[in-house]
Amino acid sequence: TTRLITPEKRTEDEDATLRPQRLADFVGQAQARSNLEVFIKAARVRQEALDHVLFVGPPGLGKTTLAQIMAREMGVGFRSTSGPVIAKAGDLAAILTNLEERDVLFIDEIHRLSPAVEEILYPAMEDFELDLMIGEGPAARSVKIALPKFTLVGATTRSGLLTTPLRDRFGIPVRLSFYTVEELEYIVTRGARVLGIGIAKDGAIEIAKRARGTPRIAGRLLRRVRDFALVADAERIDRAVADRALSALEVDHAGLDAMDRRYLSMIAIHYGGGPVGIDTMAAALSEPRDAIEEIVEPFLVQQGFIQRTPRGRMLTAGAFRHLGLAEPQQPPT
Ligand code: ADP
Repeated sequence: TTRLITPEKRTEDEDATLRPQRLADFVGQAQARSNLEVFIKAARVRQEALDHVLFVGPPGLGKTTLAQIMAREMGVGFRSTSGPVIAKAGDLAAILTNLEERDVLFIDEIHRLSPAVEEILYPAMEDFELDLMIGEGPAARSVKIALPKFTLVGATTRSGLLTTPLRDRFGIPVRLSFYTVEELEYIVTRGARVLGIGIAKDGAIEIAKRARGTPRIAGRLLRRVRDFALVADAERIDRAVADRALSALEVDHAGLDAMDRRYLSMIAIHYGGGPVGIDTMAAALSEPRDAIEEIVEPFLVQQGFIQRTPRGRMLTAGAFRHLGLAEPQQPPT
């Protein structure tokens, strides 16, 4: 998908410029932050590697950022890779043997590791050992190689996507949730300062309200609104400038984009408000089921536009109102 608002990473994001560097600069996710503070402090006092941590939550909420912050706060190295990138067991073995004591190894989309690669990870996480088979057939033998005591930080969109043995090897999963408008307003204001953009409070609030609860989207919208402001010769971004730009980008007042509205209208118009199954929706929208479940739906559920029921997705009264459609008459019960 090429949605402006998709929280998936894109190269033009220059994510790095807006990334907070320390835990103290990281806004929101109070629960996750206070958990991490305790883990980090304990590990520092004991001069040990931090326990392995699993971050769970929709894309763009700060999982990579928090992993980097952990390494920085610990004063250790940071290595980053992702599940789909590690093709063979040997690739992971190479990464692991190159780590230094207490390093943080971040694996994004860890639920997408292949089973053969996962097998390598179990003894590495548990005993800091690499179990390798050398040779083939009757001459094959297994060798164990000691690894440095590293910290694995995994990230995934839903913990249910992980195999049980992998999930069990992490301590407590750290869940990230969507940000409030106030938190996003703060992030937008800070981002504007970093990027040297003039912004009024009402401009920052307008962007925050329309960022789908997601810092990555807030940063992306800020950059796009800045372009509009430049072309319109506006001195700074205020509410009117932000509104004009975001409307032109088809981001509505609730932060829904064209894809979100397509999804909602499909259920409203073609399926009478639901319930409709996820596979039917994926086919009707020609979008992969995963993308709908992990990127489109979580925000719509959180905002109360849809409900997930055992029989499928259902639109709420609020969704019909948002679309400007009349709710279908319920049959008498
Ligand atoms: P994820 O790994 O969950 O997909 P990232 O950590 O890559 O998300 O964050 C995406 C973008 O949002 C980055 O540019 C990052 O700087 C920004 N960001 C995330 N969380 C915060 C936060 N709490 N405060 C400020 N910026 C944030």
